[in-house]
Amino acid sequence: MLKIIAARFRQGFRTAPYPKTAPSLPDRFRGKPIIDSSRCPDDCRRCVEACPTEALRKTGDSLQMDLGRCLFCADCEKICPSHAVSFSKDHRLAVRSRKDLILTGEPLRLADALDGKMRRLFGRSLKLRQVSAGGCNACEADVNVLNTLVFDLGRFGIQFVASPRHADGLLITGPVTQNMDLALRKTFEALPSPAVVIAVGSCAISGGPFIGHPEIAGCPEKNIPIDLFIPGCPPHPYTILDGLLRLLDRLESSSKK
Ligand code: SF4
Repeated sequence: MLKIIAARFRQGFRTAPYPKTAPSLPDRFRGKPIIDSSRCPDDCRRCVEACPTEALRKTGDSLQMDLGRCLFCADCEKICPSHAVSFSKDHRLAVRSRKDLILTGEPLRLADALDGKMRRLFGRSLKLRQVSAGGCNACEADVNVLNTLVFDLGRFGIQFVASPRHADGLLITGPVTQNMDLALRKTFEALPSPAVVIAVGSCAISGGPFIGHPEIAGCPEKNIPIDLFIPGCPPHPYTILDGLLRLLDRLESSSKK
């Protein structure tokens, strides 16, 4: 017992001070992309051709990136001779509407909080049912890690539950395979109303690298209204946490912008 107390004393408090302070991210972390069309020569389409998911589009002299498709592989950054695309260290990427994931040179319109009625219901206690709809386990792992003592998701009143009937919302990962399509819809229908739906990762948002594959049923947005889109492949746990806290209006005002 004394050894345990001594170990606890030695280790100190391990939960990260986020959101009071900015998260500590690794050097190789790739966050919000920065697009500078003015650097992009008219006749160059190298990045568009290199992109494995057709996330980049060039119309005239304007370059666009669909964050809902982007895998953050950085092939576009590497191939661009004029640095028109680069990646910042900004982990904040969650938005409320699919169209807000289309990145141009403008700042990203980050997610607004739920309306007052929904915040009164879920602001201090949000139970989520997670469905991996054919995911590779990367997004699932980064969602799962939020339950560890470093992130301690429970301190915000957010918990994962085993049944949709006990949940206030659904968190979807994976590209929604044909095999998981019905299960996902049934899970959504089993949620008590009102409910929130969160799509995590490029697969859940657009199909990611599996877009157009015959075994993919397609974007869940066809059948299920999505309240929060968290892009990435996979999104960093801080990106997911930022999105959840934004939705519940639980972020410090300094971290909101
Ligand atoms: S980082 Fe995104 S936009 Fe760039 S090549 Fe990879 S998938 Fe395409």
